[in-house]
Amino acid sequence: MAEETIFSKIINREIPADIVYEDDIALAFKDINPQAPVHLLIIPKKPIATINDIEEEDADIVGHLYIVAAKLAVQHGFAKDGYRCVMNCNEHGGQTVYHIHLHLLAGKPMGWPPY
Ligand code: 5GP
Repeated sequence: MAEETIFSKIINREIPADIVYEDDIALAFKDINPQAPVHLLIIPKKPIATINDIEEEDADIVGHLYIVAAKLAVQHGFAKDGYRCVMNCNEHGGQTVYHIHLHLLAGKPMGWPPY
């Protein structure tokens, strides 16, 4: 289990967030510092620190984050135009919050490579 992070506090409603989706497994909310017209974070309620810490038993949880991403894309009307899902890992990946989260970025064409 990961240390408690700011995202655990958002799950527990100890700090506010603009929550757009919730179910038993995942929570999605607007990123506080958006990098695209739409920038959502989809997190598991289970606190897993990094991609490196994902266990076989977490496969359904991680898969579920993508199911939620696709649902949100339809709900928010950008499924057809497209979007980007990114999960950063550790320092070189640009991870700053050590509770895994899927960035869902949309609303404009994304560049590649991502640096
Ligand atoms: P990472 O850099 O770990 O991939 O992404 C962490 C993301 O969390 C960043 O995009 C950052 O803006 C966002 N973030 C950090 N603290 C908060 C917060 O308290 N509330 C919200 N909504 N987003 C946050």
